[in-house]
Amino acid sequence: PAREDLNVPKIFASDEFDLELFGGMRFDTTADIVIPPSLIDQVIGQEHAVEVIKKAATQRRHVMMIGSPGTGKSMLAKAMAELLPKEEMQDILTYPNAEDSNNPIIRVVPAGRGKEIVAAHRAEARKRVSSRNTMLMVIILGVIVFSIFSGQLIMGLLVVLMLFFVFKSMMPRDEAMVPKLIVSNKPDSKAPFVDGTGTHAGALLGDVRHDPFQSGGLETPSHDRVEAGAIHRAHKGVLFIDEINTLELPSQQSLLTALQEGEFPITGQSERSSGAMVRTENVPCRFIMIAAGNLDAMQGMHPALRSRIRGYGYEVYMGETMDDTMQNRARLVRFIAQEVQNDGKIPHFDPSAVSEILREARRRSGRKGHLTLKLRDLGGLVRVAGDLARQAGDPATTMKHVVDAKQIARSVEDQISDEYIRRTRDYDLTIVEGTLVGRVNGLAVVGNDAGSVLPITAEVTPSQGAGAVIATGLLKEIAQESIKNVSALIKKFSGTDIRKVDIHVQFIGTYNGVEGDSASITVATAVISALEDIPVRQDVAMTGSLSVRGDVLPIGGVTYKIEAAAKAGIHTVIIPQSNLDDVLIEERYKQMVEIVPVTRIEEVLRRALVPEDKEAFEKKLSMIGKHMEIPKMPAV
Ligand code: ADP
Repeated sequence: PAREDLNVPKIFASDEFDLELFGGMRFDTTADIVIPPSLIDQVIGQEHAVEVIKKAATQRRHVMMIGSPGTGKSMLAKAMAELLPKEEMQDILTYPNAEDSNNPIIRVVPAGRGKEIVAAHRAEARKRVSSRNTMLMVIILGVIVFSIFSGQLIMGLLVVLMLFFVFKSMMPRDEAMVPKLIVSNKPDSKAPFVDGTGTHAGALLGDVRHDPFQSGGLETPSHDRVEAGAIHRAHKGVLFIDEINTLELPSQQSLLTALQEGEFPITGQSERSSGAMVRTENVPCRFIMIAAGNLDAMQGMHPALRSRIRGYGYEVYMGETMDDTMQNRARLVRFIAQEVQNDGKIPHFDPSAVSEILREARRRSGRKGHLTLKLRDLGGLVRVAGDLARQAGDPATTMKHVVDAKQIARSVEDQISDEYIRRTRDYDLTIVEGTLVGRVNGLAVVGNDAGSVLPITAEVTPSQGAGAVIATGLLKEIAQESIKNVSALIKKFSGTDIRKVDIHVQFIGTYNGVEGDSASITVATAVISALEDIPVRQDVAMTGSLSVRGDVLPIGGVTYKIEAAAKAGIHTVIIPQSNLDDVLIEERYKQMVEIVPVTRIEEVLRRALVPEDKEAFEKKLSMIGKHMEIPKMPAV
């Protein structure tokens, strides 16, 4: 080749995108991305947890991990098993106990020896059986020959039958002497990782199977019915238990004993089974415990177990988001490559597909300048997109596949929210055109990642006594709080002292999961509309918190709320200015709604209310800001 050809720098498909977007990574598809070999280096975000795990591994300490599902807890636990300092692993065997058949003997041997021992015993037993069979044959033949010669045929046959049964009944005894391998490791194997999440007592602590034939020569010997538990299989390794609080208290108690003693006998766990009579000698279980759960889970945990793990280990919190930096974006690109490689069947992602996943990671973080760390869900999206590409027979996964996958891989909440919108439409609960007095379309988040239009109505009646805010349930708190906040504003606006009136506020089609003060500007607008008898535009929806001074403050879930409004047919969405950067709505909604960022309640009212007398209205509005030098509220 010409000299020039060698100097031409390689062009990657990703060069068509901003280099910063991929954190400096250059690739044609994610197949070009180098994946670190060790699991701990594959963990993304969670730097603190990674550091703790490394430290805990060298010191062989227990760890408690607190955080949301799908953020990498079990992945870290697995990584810890890889990191444990090298130790000789062991096999565990049960032997029959000649003195007390209900108390099988436990033997511990180096890893790999267990299999050999069992094989040797088996061969021995087989040899004994076959030599006895040969002997039996010789004797039987002898008896037959003798009986033929002596004419005692019947007698001879009887003797043969008797001999046969005597020998047969001795055979299972031989098999019964073979020990059972209950924990088996390959020679030179690494520390085991055992996931004990959601196991019942038997699977966790070991069990002895029931024997339907408890006597009469047909029974399975008790040592042969012993099964190791997760705690035993995790011997010298890591035992991971997620949602630790769902473990029954007696099991937690036993787990604590196992942790403290480093050994735990196996006994039948179901009371009425014959296994319950059996109890082995102590079985070693020197494992490192990684208990995980969300914050609630920690409260449901046996206090003694918790303090044991804490006292002899570390407690880490898992992050839910990370900063949207070059480095972290590069890590997410690697994450996609990892997920594709782990799946093994889906095509790698091209730069357009990667950019769409990155966008989704921003969107799902729900915070300005952040990327989500709920990576199990994001990995789910990667797989669905990859499956679509594979079904289509495409060589790489592209943006189109990711966009289609988002439709398919939606959360349950999101689907419920759609269903809810459809149903409220049927019942005419959602009004998205015309004007009405005292009724405002608010917006709420349902679950984690779905929005919903939530209309609020207000009505004002003269009070008999001291004015009251009348509302039910959760709304009462929200309404009281926001009405307290807006009372000063209302007084300035309309000269009305709200202490002289009763204000009735109602959510239409209320349901759970509505988060607090993001309904403040909605309640304020509804109340002012009702007080002043000014109609509200129904094609407008709004979300925002409110300060006593009338500043509109940021709220959460803005993207999902806007998308819900668009789906419901709303044309204008009012949001806090400070949330503008959090808006990462899908392309298809962009044409459907106008987003109006605001900083002040006056702007909200100007947009939403349709006064008859515009001049008087403006004058009243100007009263709200009067006598206040407004220092800008810092964004929360
Ligand atoms: P958890 O135990 O917190 O519920 P897992 O560790 O089981 O979550 O995560 C499930 C999968 O999601 C992992 O196998 C991995 O593919 C991906 N994943 C989750 N968190 C991370 C992370 N921090 N870094 C890389 N991959 C992750």
